[in-house]
Amino acid sequence: MGALLESLLTLQDLELQIVDIRRQLATRERAVERQAAKVRAAEQALDEERAAYKRAQAQQDELDVDLKTRQANVTRLRENLNSVRTNKEYAALMSQLNNEKADTTRLETRAYELLEGVEVRKRTVAERQAAVDHDRHRLTDIQAQLEQGRQSFADRLGALERQRGAAAENIDAKSLDLFNRISERYEGEVMARVVRIHPRRHEYMCEGCNMALAAERANALLTRDDVITCGNCGRILHINKSA
Ligand SMILES: [Zn+2]
Repeated sequence: MGALLESLLTLQDLELQIVDIRRQLATRERAVERQAAKVRAAEQALDEERAAYKRAQAQQDELDVDLKTRQANVTRLRENLNSVRTNKEYAALMSQLNNEKADTTRLETRAYELLEGVEVRKRTVAERQAAVDHDRHRLTDIQAQLEQGRQSFADRLGALERQRGAAAENIDAKSLDLFNRISERYEGEVMARVVRIHPRRHEYMCEGCNMALAAERANALLTRDDVITCGNCGRILHINKSA
C-alpha cells in the first residue's frame, strides 16, 4: 500500500476514535434531555393535582359552612317548638324542622363523600411529589455522569484532535476534503477494504457495502497509490496486494 492510503488509514483510525467519544457524549446528553423532559412532565402532573386538591378543599369548606348554618337552623326550630301555642303552629314548625333535617342529612352524606375525595387527592399529591423528587434525583445523577464523561474525555479528545491534525498534514487538500465529506456521511468509516472474492478470477468486493467492485477500479488500486472510491458506497478503497 502506498503512503497516501497509509496516511488516510491512520487518519481514519483517529477519526473513528474521535467519533466514538463524541457518540458516547451524545448518548449521555440525550439521556439528560430525556430525563429533564420527564421531570417537567412530572412537575406539571403535580401542579395539576395540587390545583385539583385545592379546589376539592374549597368545595368542602363551602359545604361545611352550609352545613353549620342548617344545623343551627335545626337547633333554632327545635327551641321554637317549646313556645308554640296552637297545634297548627306546631304542625307547621314540625314540617319545617323535618325538611331542614332531611336537607342536613343529605349535606352530611355529601360532606362525607367530599372528605373522602379530598383524602384521595391528598394521597395522590404526595405520590406525585415523590415521583418528582425521584425524577429530579435521577436527573442530577445523570447530569453528573455527563459532566464526568466530559471531563474524562476532554483530555483524550484533545490529544486525538491534535494527532488528527498532524496526520492530516501528510494528505493533500483535495483528498482530505473528500475524506472529511465521507467521514460526515459514514460517521468516520471512510475507508473500505477491497477483498478478492474468487481465488482464480479477478473478482473483487468492497467490504464497506459488500457490493462487487468494477474490475478497472480494482486494477487501478493495485497499480497506483491513489484515492479511488467505491462506485456504490463512495468510500475510499484500499487493498492488501497479496490478497
Ligand atoms: Zn462500497
